Amino acid sequence: MSEAIQENVRRIREEIAQAAQRSGRDPKQIKILAATKTRNITEILAAVEGGVDLIGENTVQEARSKFEFLSVNLGKHMIGTLQPNKVKAALRLFDLIESVQSLELARIIDREASKLKKKYSVLIEVNPAGEASKQGTGLDDVESLANEICKLEHIQLRGLMSMMPHAENPEILRPLFRTTHQLFEKVRASIGDKFDILSMGMSNDYKIAVEEGSTQVRLGSVIFGERKY
Ligand SMILES: *Cc1c(COP(=O)(O)O)cnc(C)c1O
Repeated sequence: MSEAIQENVRRIREEIAQAAQRSGRDPKQIKILAATKTRNITEILAAVEGGVDLIGENTVQEARSKFEFLSVNLGKHMIGTLQPNKVKAALRLFDLIESVQSLELARIIDREASKLKKKYSVLIEVNPAGEASKQGTGLDDVESLANEICKLEHIQLRGLMSMMPHAENPEILRPLFRTTHQLFEKVRASIGDKFDILSMGMSNDYKIAVEEGSTQVRLGSVIFGERKY
């Protein structure tokens, strides 16, 4: 099983390089985050061995039970919805929170980060299709939220994380990826080079996301197989 996971990561890396080249990008600009919810340590270590760049967990609870077994040098991102009462714990476990959807949550992170005398990295979670069932900021509200978050002293706004609708044929998502990338570039033009992460693309659509400007894909099932809850 471990060998299959390692092999998957190598194949995905190759596919990402090809997708990057198709759109004239340097493959080194794209990171692979392994979305490790429900996966055990053996599976996660196989993905690390295969060469993923980052680990992403959805809950503080799961992160707490696993991260002590993982190298301190591996970047760890929070990709799930964060409850306000879990922020303090999350800042200790994770290097970056991708799922900031409101100014209220950003303010709580800022307050906890100030206690740690740190500047903490976050992304704004975007919901480009405006689906009511999904968390995340609509495209129209991203710039004003970004401006407000930038005023917080102990937060470094590093970019955007997109949550796309599921689509049988991911090709229909291409315009949404493109619009999200354009918005990313627009915000980057006002914030500067530290705004450098566009976390976009999952198992079903990562090649298209890379063609459309993603700098980080978040992959679960295509690395580990289908999830069993
Ligand atoms: C689970 C998850 C992923 C990966 O999903 P797959 O479809 O298995 O690749 C990516 N992002 C988030 C936020 C997730 O919760």
